[in-house]
Order: sequence, then C-alpha cells, then structure tokens
Amino acid sequence: MTPALSIQHLELSFGDLDVLKGVSFNVTPGEVLCVIGPSGSGKSTLLRCIAFLETGFRGTIQVEGEALGQFEKNGKQVPVRGAALRKVQGKIGMVFQNFNLWPHMSALENVMAPLTIVKGMSKSEAKKLAMENLHKVGVAEKADTYPPRLSGGQQQRVGIARALAMQPRVMLFDEATSSLDPELVNEVLGVMRKLAEEGMTMIVVTHEMDFAKKVADRVIFMDGGVIAEQGPPKQVLETPREARTRAFLSLID
Ligand code: ADP
Ligand code: MG
Repeated sequence: MTPALSIQHLELSFGDLDVLKGVSFNVTPGEVLCVIGPSGSGKSTLLRCIAFLETGFRGTIQVEGEALGQFEKNGKQVPVRGAALRKVQGKIGMVFQNFNLWPHMSALENVMAPLTIVKGMSKSEAKKLAMENLHKVGVAEKADTYPPRLSGGQQQRVGIARALAMQPRVMLFDEATSSLDPELVNEVLGVMRKLAEEGMTMIVVTHEMDFAKKVADRVIFMDGGVIAEQGPPKQVLETPREARTRAFLSLID
C-alpha cells in the first residue's frame, strides 16, 4: 500500500543550529500518529516542513507517493510557487497552537478564504463547503461571529474546519489544545478523536498523553532532532525502552 505520507532523511538547520537531523518515517492511510518530546526537540519544525511552511530542508516528503517541492542542485528543497504551491497546500491541512485565524474576518469568512483564494472556488460553492465543515466541528451557529468574540475552543474548532474544508489527505495538529483553558480542551480533543475515527490520516503533536494512549496508532518520541523511540502507544508510554523517553515521561506525569 502506498503510504499516505513518506518522509525520508529530513534535515533542517537554522544557521549553525541543526534542528532536524535525519528524520524518516511513513504514515499509512488512516493512521493516527502522535508525536511527543521535549520543547525544542523539533516537533513544530517537522510539521512545518511537511506543510511547506519551512523550505530549504534536505530529504524528501511524499504525499501518496508524490514528492512535494523541487530540488536544487545541492539537494535542498526550494520553495514551490504558483500551481505547485497550491497543490501542496491542498494536500496538507495544519492546525496551529494559536489558532492563526484572521481577526477581521468572521468564522465563515475564515473558512471560505482558502477555498476561494487557493482553490479558486466560487463564493457560493465555498460558502456551502465552509458551512458543512463548521457544522461538522459544532460551531455552525457562530458562522457570522468574529474570532475575538469566540472562546478559545470555538476558535480552534474554526481552525480545524478551515483546514478540513480544503479536503486534505493528511491533517497536522501542532499542540492544538496547548493554548486553551483546561475546561475547553476536551471539546477540541473530541473533534480530533471523531476525525480519527472517521479514518483521517493525522499527525498530532501533543502533551495530552491520555489522547495519545486512546487514539494514536503509533507514538513517536522526538529528542534533539531525531526520532529517539517509536511504537504502539502502550509500549512507548508505559514501558519505554529508551532512558530519555522515561525521563521525559516522568517530567510530564
Ligand atoms: P518543538 O516544537 O519541539 O518545541 P521547534 O521545532 O519549535 O521545537 O524548535 C526546534 C529548535 O529550532 C529550537 O531550538 C528552536 O529555537 C529552533 N527554531 C525553530 N524555528 C526557528 C527559526 N525560524 N529560526 C531559528 N531557530 C528556530
Ligand atoms: Mg512546538
């Protein structure tokens, strides 16, 4: 079976700082992968490369067998533009810790914008699809509300609807609940769990170990820009093989 996502030898440095030092893994269609690890280990950078929000990395990223981006002579990925960029943006959906909604647009307009701008849909088509997705995450009644008037949980659900409306092949979540007040975390995790149950292919960077235990098919522990350990959630989270995984887990429990 062709992997939904295949990452081979991914390396990225910022100046002298090597942030990703050769990360390789495949994600099968419908798989839910949780990525855990200490702050600064490269988790966000990994997701940002997959979404092509970072460029200039080495290695390959393929979605359903197709490489994203182009190579320069020195082997680095170069920014894709125009139609090629839109194709990447259409395949990967990303949800951010701080929601990244446009404050001057209503919830509905936030979801519609990429559909009209990136996908070139008509306004009426985009509105229909946007409303369907706002409904799916349970915030349809807030369609005309502006983000500053929404709770954090509602804002994040709009962020998820915006990514989903693009009908991506893979969804990336970067600490999607870390900015939320504790009582709002579950409404967002619930939406993510529903997506997982519906068969969405997902990579979830999270500190919610309970979510990882219950929902993930596989857990990756990153440390210092490499995958230090990976396996089924029960094994990695309950009987980790690596000392550094144990050290990390003892700090967050
Ligand atoms: P994590 O998400 O695991 O906390 P990040 O991927 O955000 O880690 O960051 C990994 C390392 O890369 C950190 O040392 C961070 O300071 C550094 N870093 C991230 N983005 C940049 C950037 N744009 N420029 C320079 N350094 C960066
Ligand atoms: Mg991060």
